[in-house]
Amino acid sequence: TPPLDVAALREEFPILAREVHGKPLVYLDNAATSQTPRRVIAAFEEYYGRYNANIHRGLHTLADEATAAFEGTRETVRSFLNAGDSREIIFTRGTTEAINLVANAWGRANLRPGDEVLVSRMEHHSNIVPWQLLASQLGIVVKVIPVDARGVLDLDAYRGLFSERTRLVAVNHVSNAFGTINPVREMAAIAHEHDALILVDGAQAAPHQAVDVRDLDADFYAFSGHKVYGPTGVGVLYGKAALLEAMPPWQGGGEMIQTVSFEAPTTFAAIPHKFEAGTPAIAEVIALGEALRWIEGVGLEAIGAWEGQLLDAATQRVSRIDGLRLLGTAPHKASVLSFVVDGAHAQDIGLLIDQLGVAIRTGHHCAQPLLAQFGVDATCRASFAAYNTLEEVEVFAAALERVIGMVR
Ligand code: PMP
Repeated sequence: TPPLDVAALREEFPILAREVHGKPLVYLDNAATSQTPRRVIAAFEEYYGRYNANIHRGLHTLADEATAAFEGTRETVRSFLNAGDSREIIFTRGTTEAINLVANAWGRANLRPGDEVLVSRMEHHSNIVPWQLLASQLGIVVKVIPVDARGVLDLDAYRGLFSERTRLVAVNHVSNAFGTINPVREMAAIAHEHDALILVDGAQAAPHQAVDVRDLDADFYAFSGHKVYGPTGVGVLYGKAALLEAMPPWQGGGEMIQTVSFEAPTTFAAIPHKFEAGTPAIAEVIALGEALRWIEGVGLEAIGAWEGQLLDAATQRVSRIDGLRLLGTAPHKASVLSFVVDGAHAQDIGLLIDQLGVAIRTGHHCAQPLLAQFGVDATCRASFAAYNTLEEVEVFAAALERVIGMVR
């Protein structure tokens, strides 16, 4: 029996009732974007219908209500990550912007030519390119943590990459391309032994397992709203207070200042506001709070256990398909089934299976260096969320067999 009431839970997601090409939607692209429950959608209606106002600066009722709801989400996120202080929670546009904030605010202030940043081969491009930009602009060196044939990070090689110039490790908690769960707690301890910091890209971990930034001892941790049953356009950067306080601002503008003058130096607001220039995505932040409370109501342990069952069932089922090769066979995986099929282009499979109502992702998943190591430029990726069912796994696998028969 499933550890959660999936049928009841599905009722909360209006989109799951729709059809695609006359077939019931089977949504297996959750690693790209998860769907939103009614209470998250309702948060937008409530905000724009009742208390839409700019935050922090108004002394009127609507502004107070909006500010309270916005800052309330900061506390919800703090608790979701088990951070010690809500000032350590910065709202961004998403994981990408969170990483760029660290690269630009912390990186530009702390990195000198020849300093080294360790990045794994299985990173999403958003945790590669910001460091490459700094390499070309500041002369820092990006070193690559290798990945083995199962899609597992090589920890011995990781240890060997450190030098007295290593300043930061940038690694994902869970790979979006293969689903590998990385030992970030151990990696953080190793980084700290070498006086380096660690930034964890948690975009694919936050939806599937409880995250405790203090237990991990992560210096920075990032995730996106639209992968945790919340809206697009909002994400989170957690950073240890002492680090954030010592960092200069990144973007300048309203909200992030204390006083602005042409005659004296402009002074900046305290954290977290120092890093939140301009009007934020207020409704999205408030709706993200609803999404995280929804997750907590269901329970991440139950969600992770159920997704594990779905992944196991799907892995066994598609392994029977002739000529199908799974990519990423790590012993510890979350949610993601990535594969290629002999004689069938990933793109063709994606397009044809959509005709049968099944949404999967095909392409490089913004992880070209990882795919290149495995000799492919695209895979098919099915990824699971709490609301998926074993019946959907079977519909997907049967549709896949049919599609492969058509293109071969
Ligand atoms: N990192 C990982 C591991 C991801 O899966 C994603 C989204 N695919 C990102 C970063 C980027 O997130 P966003 O596009 O929400 O900024």
